[in-house]
Amino acid sequence: MIEKNILEIKNKLQGKAELLVVSKFRNKAEILKVYNLGQRKFAENRVQNLLERVKELPNDIEWHLIGHLQSNKVRDITSFIHTIQSVDSIKLLNEIEKQAQKFNRQISVYLQIFIAQEDTKFGLSYLEAENCINYYVNNEFKYVKITGFMAMASNTGNKIQISNEFKNLNAWIENTQKKFPQLNLKNKSFGMSSDFEIAIENGSNLVRIGSLVFNLCE
Ligand SMILES: *Cc1c(COP(=O)(O)O)cnc(C)c1O
Repeated sequence: MIEKNILEIKNKLQGKAELLVVSKFRNKAEILKVYNLGQRKFAENRVQNLLERVKELPNDIEWHLIGHLQSNKVRDITSFIHTIQSVDSIKLLNEIEKQAQKFNRQISVYLQIFIAQEDTKFGLSYLEAENCINYYVNNEFKYVKITGFMAMASNTGNKIQISNEFKNLNAWIENTQKKFPQLNLKNKSFGMSSDFEIAIENGSNLVRIGSLVFNLCE
């Protein structure tokens, strides 16, 4: 069943976006099923769960953190994390740089942008994100690399609204890339089970999918 789900999702991605499997709430056996189909990019939204996963699963998995991260937890994940998608402050950026230097590792980070018409989600406004990038560019970070952006659309059935949110985000990203040609802001992480098709129509190249892979939808 999982195999069929992944094939269907990949078909719909049309080669435009990569699949990041969100393994939160799933058990080790379920995750291994996906791993054994060749999937290597996985994401968790909580540090504690991530730490447990890393212990019990193969070490060639590329782990992404997609949930809110407190500065005092950065050090716990620095030795293995590939990408932190949920960076939403300069303070966090500085802390990741500091810890990554200690471990002598490069860590890829995405800035999390707030695009939804809801007040329940974390993230930076476009203006705050630009300030963050300015700070990053002016302070010569050596271990942290900003390589893209992550966002979540409004939790609504209104496809036009979702589409507009992604469209605006994509336009802003393209514009920001032009303003900062010295950076490579290529990763565009938007789209989940409910809206990934709309996301890839609007520029996403990395979709974060959980429920649809593990049969939890409908
Ligand atoms: C849980 C989660 C997802 C995946 O959601 P599904 O609807 O299960 O595909 C994607 N992004 C973030 C940030 C999440 O927390």
